Amino acid sequence: MSDILKYLKEHSNYITDTLIRLTKAESPSHTKTLVDKCGEVLQQEFESLVGGSVEMIEKTEVGNQYKFTYGAGDEEGQILVIGHMDTVWDVGALPIRQEGNLLYGPGVFDMKGGLAITLWALRALKETGSQLNKQITFLVSTDEEVGSAHSKEIILKEAGKSSLVLVPESSIGPDGAVKTERKGAAQFLMKIEGIAAHAGINAWDGASAIEELAHQILDLKKLENRDEGISVNIGVVKGGTRGNVIAKEAVAEIDVRITKKAQAEKITEAILNRPVFVKGTKVEVFGEIDRYPLERTEAVIQLYAELKGIAASHGYDLREGSSGGASDGNFTAGLGIPTIDGLGPLGDGAHTEREHVNLTNLPYRAALMAEIILKYANK
Ligand SMILES: [Zn+2]
Repeated sequence: MSDILKYLKEHSNYITDTLIRLTKAESPSHTKTLVDKCGEVLQQEFESLVGGSVEMIEKTEVGNQYKFTYGAGDEEGQILVIGHMDTVWDVGALPIRQEGNLLYGPGVFDMKGGLAITLWALRALKETGSQLNKQITFLVSTDEEVGSAHSKEIILKEAGKSSLVLVPESSIGPDGAVKTERKGAAQFLMKIEGIAAHAGINAWDGASAIEELAHQILDLKKLENRDEGISVNIGVVKGGTRGNVIAKEAVAEIDVRITKKAQAEKITEAILNRPVFVKGTKVEVFGEIDRYPLERTEAVIQLYAELKGIAASHGYDLREGSSGGASDGNFTAGLGIPTIDGLGPLGDGAHTEREHVNLTNLPYRAALMAEIILKYANK
């Protein structure tokens, strides 16, 4: 057994304690005061366990964010770990409880478990005297669950200096597979303007925005391609005012998912430049690709192979999988920086009342992160 895994197994109970302290500091994305308190707890944990440098990034609309750095190595080519401390849970909505080796609670799996793992991975590197030739930056945001509008910029900035990005977001249950692929996502808003008219008196003078919308929906669905992993969902439609009025306005919200960056341009073009079906109506579409896909590139395959090797040396098989959902890892992957996601703990039930983490496995996941950092920091 490696010194790192040995150290972490011996400190298993302390890892659990860190996770419980982070979870007790409940931090719903929209409540800045609470997220800030969680940040203070996180900072204390970092200072007592790791003791590198701490930079708090003050935010006014969301919780303050943190950039922790460890190691005296180069900043250029640094190894970046990204996480978020906000959760989808309102305070008190989900009680914290332990059943055997499972810990249930708000955000334990998504992703305070990942934060605890990262802190302990760095702790283990420190305590085992592991030499790092690159700086490790641990960036923790506070608005991932609500779209990352206040953190996208800093994530991209830090990723630009990085040679590798590790994302300890929730793994794929039940065997803790890592995510070597994530879909990219885009949201669009379609606005249609028609010509209002009385449905009885002068029906033929109008141009129905709703009729146009109906054509648009069916036409948009033609852009889908299941084999290529391109999906288009029209999730919200609104329009019209009265049953006896030809609709002057209609809107639709469109969600697009892609699996390859190369698909982005073509689909964006097709959605922004719509043909018009009903004479007299006007169609405008707003929006863009928000997150590029995390693609299973050669570098990602290589990274996964190395993680798998570390896992094998710890006595288990590490699997890989893909996710239709996007994470902050999509931003860094979009820049072409090798990114692997789902490095968080073994567990299940993110965003549901079954949200839990397997406590016995925590030292293994922390050791996995520590050893991949060690490997890449000395390449
Ligand atoms: Zn998350």
